[in-house]
Amino acid sequence: MGSEHQLRREIVKMGRALHERGFIAACDGNLSVRLNDERVLVTPTGMSKGGMHSADLVIVDMEGQRVKGRREMTSEIGMHLLIYRMRPDVRGIVHAHPPTATGFAAAGLALNQPLVCEVVIGLGQIPLAPYGTPGTPELAQTLEPLVPDYDAILMANHGVVTYGADLHSAYMKMETVEHFAQIALVTHILGQQQLLDRPDLEKLVAARSKYLGVNSAAPMPVHSSNGNGGRLSRRSRARSSRTVLREPAMRFEN
Ligand SMILES: [Zn+2]
Repeated sequence: MGSEHQLRREIVKMGRALHERGFIAACDGNLSVRLNDERVLVTPTGMSKGGMHSADLVIVDMEGQRVKGRREMTSEIGMHLLIYRMRPDVRGIVHAHPPTATGFAAAGLALNQPLVCEVVIGLGQIPLAPYGTPGTPELAQTLEPLVPDYDAILMANHGVVTYGADLHSAYMKMETVEHFAQIALVTHILGQQQLLDRPDLEKLVAARSKYLGVNSAAPMPVHSSNGNGGRLSRRSRARSSRTVLREPAMRFEN
């Protein structure tokens, strides 16, 4: 783990990356890192996360009281503290509103279909938490049942939160969620989804431990079917399995 100085720079850098990728607009989003058992470094409210300086960040205690910093802390501090309390393995959190994933969240759709092997390995699935009013305890309450089992959660009519062993891994998960949402959207446009089947899912879940960066303690279950997916004929499934067998060995770039 880096020094406080390094961690401040990391938050500034990741805030800029979120803004450059269009994952946040105006003053949206917030980021944090766990400094130690009692202190969390968080972004301020009311400013673009694409243009922060190290000195804009705020240190808070685990009760959400400001310990250091001139600015007001993020109004979503309750969500960050909930995740740090429930997940001792987590040291970095990113909250943003990436447009495609947030579109799913606004449509009431979880990203829970096994469409892409790397996403099954990395995140399992991305569930949808019910809506909770931003800046109130309600928001954290809606996430609470999901936090122990998932590293990325869609927040209905709002956005996405991701977290990991450090801020960089939390940020990478945010990129993965938005990228996967774009792929899922294309399958919706094409009008069909070819889901990975149960034996292939079991192999992917078993392979998780081999990949660097996939170190969550969460069981991350996967669903082999739900609702609008998997409406394929027996013939097209047979065809797809032949295609899969010809594929080269899976690469996982992290
Ligand atoms: Zn938000």
